[in-house]
Amino acid sequence: MDFRETSEHRDLRDTVRAITAKFGPEYYVPRAEAGEPTAELWAELGHHGFLGINLPEEYGGGGAGLVELAMVCEETAAAGCPMLLLLVSAAISGEMISDFGTDEQRRHWLPRMASGEAKVVFGITEPDAGSNTHRLSTVARRDGGDFLISGTKHYISGVDEAEAILLVTRSGVDETTGHAVLSLFIVPTDTPGLVATPLPVSAKLPEKQFVLHFDDLRAPAEWLVGEEGNGFRQVFHGLNPERITGAALCVGIARHVLHQAAEYASTRSVWGKPIGTHQGVSHPLAKARIETDLAALMTTKAAWLHDNELPAGEAANMAKYAAAEAAGAAAEAAIQAHGGNGLATEYGLMPYWAISRLLRIAPVSREMVLNFVAQHTLGLPRSY
Ligand SMILES: Cc1cc2nc3c(=O)[nH]c(=O)nc-3n(C[C@H](O)[C@H](O)[C@H](O)COP(=O)(O)OP(=O)(O)OC[C@H]3O[C@@H](n4cnc5c(N)ncnc54)[C@H](O)[C@@H]3O)c2cc1C
Repeated sequence: MDFRETSEHRDLRDTVRAITAKFGPEYYVPRAEAGEPTAELWAELGHHGFLGINLPEEYGGGGAGLVELAMVCEETAAAGCPMLLLLVSAAISGEMISDFGTDEQRRHWLPRMASGEAKVVFGITEPDAGSNTHRLSTVARRDGGDFLISGTKHYISGVDEAEAILLVTRSGVDETTGHAVLSLFIVPTDTPGLVATPLPVSAKLPEKQFVLHFDDLRAPAEWLVGEEGNGFRQVFHGLNPERITGAALCVGIARHVLHQAAEYASTRSVWGKPIGTHQGVSHPLAKARIETDLAALMTTKAAWLHDNELPAGEAANMAKYAAAEAAGAAAEAAIQAHGGNGLATEYGLMPYWAISRLLRIAPVSREMVLNFVAQHTLGLPRSY
């Protein structure tokens, strides 16, 4: 076993950090406050080949894996620019199109996703289904050679920036379990029959959220991703990359706010010595740093398992849980260490608190991870 990073990985981290540092919190915070996309940074990362680092080389990607994409997520966040759509477009949509799409779909979408020209967002959440994917009610029914899609999704991020949505639909019901049989489609955002309405959230994020109404939207069979009715397996395969990159994003956010807080606490002095001298200030920061480093280890393990085609569900869930909790604790400690300045727009901490708070709920909530570990790791009876 060797815990040292390779020189390629160190170079990757250094380069992504250097590119993102040119933007930094001075760029991210006003965008988050205004709800404006971080388009210039996205374009630059695409130009340098980092958005598709995990995608196959023959489709314009970097031919690396999730370990490397997680590094891109972590380093952009650590340089002050956490990018939610990396989880959605690069990790979940990119991996699913790459693994289950037809050759035509791969040729059409992946090179442009890798270059940054096109984003494909992900739509699974519904108002009535919530965390229970079996209850999805957005229906895809056959109509000749096409499908007609009807239903509602909500909290779908980045629809205004995206060329398409990777959409999870119910295309039947399993006779024995009564659960939804799922099918996935790539639906271009300008398709007639789709109405997208902004869903305001008070968390300050550059990415906007949307409610999507599908009213007998006509989807040709060529838009189907993978096998009709096999969506459940495909979605579960794709959720691990989302959880792993979500964890990496949290590790990066924690590193960013802890760095800022340590600098502040080393220089701010109100009783004749820096506030960081007081253990009431330094210990919460140190504790969050320990939790962040532990979460980073589990994130790397989960990404490595995924890249080596080993079962990664347990590690991906644990990494997501640990990293989101660590980022939340880090943001909380950083704000507290700043006193009143912790809430000031000038010090820019609140947007990082907001995204760390979001990542304790999405893409999978902490309670659903605890359910998973209780049931699958500890063998406890299923509670729901
Ligand atoms: C800003 C933002 C961006 C998002 N982006 C996207 C996106 O791009 N695409 C997308 O598809 N979705 C997106 N989501 C949705 C997100 O993934 C869901 O909000 C999340 O999965 C939780 O689902 P829910 O809101 O329906 O909560 P619910 O399922 O209603 O759960 C509510 C609470 O009850 C708890 N709970 C539910 N069931 C159980 C149980 N069995 N045991 C214990 N506790 C339970 C949950 O943990 C949670 O705390 C986004 C959400 C937000 C806020």
